[in-house]
Amino acid sequence: MKALVYQDHKTVSYLDVPDPSIEAPSDAIVRIEKTAICGSDLHIYHGPSRSEMGEFTLGHEFLGTVEDVGSDVRRFRKRDRVLVSCTIGCGVCALCDDNLYSGCMETTQMGPVTNIFGSPLNPGGQAEGVRVPFADTNLFKIPDGLNDEQVLFLTDILPTGYMGADLAEVGPGDTVVVIGCGPVGVFAQLSALMRGAATVIAVDLDDSRLEKARARGCRPLNPSREDVAEVTKSLSGGKGADCAIEAVGSPATVQLALDVVRPGGRVAVIGVVAGAQVSIDFFPVMTGKNITLRSGIVNPQFYIPKLLPMIVQGKIDPTEIITHRMSLSEGARGYEVFDNHEENVLKVVMTP
Ligand SMILES: [Zn+2]
Ligand SMILES: [Zn+2]
Repeated sequence: MKALVYQDHKTVSYLDVPDPSIEAPSDAIVRIEKTAICGSDLHIYHGPSRSEMGEFTLGHEFLGTVEDVGSDVRRFRKRDRVLVSCTIGCGVCALCDDNLYSGCMETTQMGPVTNIFGSPLNPGGQAEGVRVPFADTNLFKIPDGLNDEQVLFLTDILPTGYMGADLAEVGPGDTVVVIGCGPVGVFAQLSALMRGAATVIAVDLDDSRLEKARARGCRPLNPSREDVAEVTKSLSGGKGADCAIEAVGSPATVQLALDVVRPGGRVAVIGVVAGAQVSIDFFPVMTGKNITLRSGIVNPQFYIPKLLPMIVQGKIDPTEIITHRMSLSEGARGYEVFDNHEENVLKVVMTP
């Protein structure tokens, strides 16, 4: 079959790779019909050379149709339309049982996440097909009447954005600052609004992204023209934000999130801060202000059943973030466009 393969630093190629096959009785094989490029794929794209990481099939946001199932799979059959969780949980260990599939004791070594699709250990879904381990835990049926694009982002970034609002405990009447208007930031904004936030301040340097945030019901803020902390204070009666959600992944924006919340505020970091140290002046910033700081890898298995009905009922339209549609064979170009921020790109969706 064909797949997009990470070959080397900033080198992604459309190549022939071996077809996936059932390796364990709990596996399923899924023929992929839609797949997306994620911001975290760009971390791999900028990653080390072939000698350090080897070659592997990319992609952790994908859906399709079940083509085959192992003898232990109970909940799925051939021809079921399914979406796939980006992380692989076994579904039965103590941590999966606690809804922490990203820390699954069976599929990770309980260190940094190793159970995500599209990584050296788990061939990904930017391909014509994929093997899904523990299918009963990691596959979800797509309800009739919803098209692929409506549900594709349930595989990762919609649950990730929602997790930001969940970890920051966004509730009715809150003033919320969302830093970053990329795809995950957009879903964090929508989630904060859905949970009843009174004011959602959307922060980004890109005015076209800010215009879309305004249309969504947010207060757009470009930090090159306005001071985030000052505006937040003035919009919250002088108090500061109740919650901040960091959806960029840099030490400076983590610091900004900590700075804009009020005493007792809640900060969620859902951006991927990779390869950089965050240093916090702990007492004045955290202890002295009674701040709660949370972060984590998403557990789509936990959030999909909560978010899918919101799409069915038309409360969220995740398709609004799609800016580019192309064939998987053009995927190398898709990575370039996304990486270089060309053509006002927000999300690239590919069809094998
Ligand atoms: Zn992703
Ligand atoms: Zn597990």
